[in-house]
Amino acid sequence: MLIVQKYGGTSVGSAARIRRCCRRIAQTVAAGHQVVAVVSAMGRTTDRLIGLAHQVSSAPPARELDMLVANGETITAPLVAMCLQDRGLPAVSLSGPQAGVLTSNHHSRARIQEVRPTRVLEALDQGRVPVVAGFQGATEDFEITTLGRGGSDTTAVALAAALGADVCEILTDVDGIMTADPRVVPEARLLGHVTYEEMLELASVGAKVMHPRAVEIGELYGVPIHVRSSFHPRPGTMIVSQVPMENRKRVRGVAQDLDVAKVTVLGVPDRPGVAAAVFEPLAEAQISADVIVQNVSTQGHTDLTFTVAEADLERSLALVGPAAARVGAAGVSHSAGLAKVSIVGTGMLGTPGIASRMFRALADAGINIEMISTSEIRITCIVERGGAAAAVRALHRAFELDQVALAPA
Ligand code: ASP
Ligand code: MG
Repeated sequence: MLIVQKYGGTSVGSAARIRRCCRRIAQTVAAGHQVVAVVSAMGRTTDRLIGLAHQVSSAPPARELDMLVANGETITAPLVAMCLQDRGLPAVSLSGPQAGVLTSNHHSRARIQEVRPTRVLEALDQGRVPVVAGFQGATEDFEITTLGRGGSDTTAVALAAALGADVCEILTDVDGIMTADPRVVPEARLLGHVTYEEMLELASVGAKVMHPRAVEIGELYGVPIHVRSSFHPRPGTMIVSQVPMENRKRVRGVAQDLDVAKVTVLGVPDRPGVAAAVFEPLAEAQISADVIVQNVSTQGHTDLTFTVAEADLERSLALVGPAAARVGAAGVSHSAGLAKVSIVGTGMLGTPGIASRMFRALADAGINIEMISTSEIRITCIVERGGAAAAVRALHRAFELDQVALAPA
């Protein structure tokens, strides 16, 4: 098999940990597989580099910031390659650009446009383990770019797609994808499989195990992704297009996002163009507005409520205020300190009784629901942040997620 193995920052956080990762790579090769390693920056290196930048500049230019932070991964890759060589395993480190990662020119959030893995394939042909620096790429003009925080996952999956790898392993500091955050729900279980869709929904509502764009690329190119621990050999969670039959049409996980604030535009005239006028300035400022609810119109007026990350609240209010005035709204109100709790599962919306069971569980736990939104595979309730943990526990129990054996088959 051809396996892309991505090692995250914690897994390569020290010399000893790098040696352990290399032992694992060597074991995988010894088992008869071809391995391409993709590595993150060691530990908190990226944060440290960003911190340094802000100490010397009040607003570090995006281009220079990319030139700086790309170095975290540039350090790890040769360390891993020389460690492998020291074990007697031929290896070669490659930067993102050397590995053929071609991106758009949006600094700090570049998108991979194409992977031309000529040098990776050459190394494999020569019997060497290519060790690729994650997170970084280059534009056609050789400008260095990075893919956004957590972007090494995206490098790994995109490379796996380009190479036609059999699997992309995301080796991380957790055991896999759980039914809930085990720090909140001690009886949370490991899921043997999730679908790409479920994973995307879980990621978007706070299960920050994988970079969502990596999951999107995996789905698009049909790359099986195996999220597993780098600290032990047990299998983790396979992200695939279909989950085994008995696990369909049921709730698979409960997620929470504690970083939520809401904004309400009061008394907006009920006519075309109002929502566009409110949301366009947010979009231009790259603020994503989430759960959006508009009331039924009474006497030609309605309220428009949406959520944003609390960190974006101030900026959102500065943009929405003037927009609301322009469309003749009565005012803008807001509240912070909220959370999203969501249940996720393929085929959920087609299954009667799931929504009512969710609302009953929250009611019995004394938790007030402020807003509700649904997708085909998710129901989200906005609640007070202080009640979020209790809500997650209540939902985990209500859907019996602690009772069914969900571990790998
Ligand atoms: N080093 C980058 C970050 O900390 C990318 C990654 O680790 O995936 O965000
Ligand atoms: Mg990560």
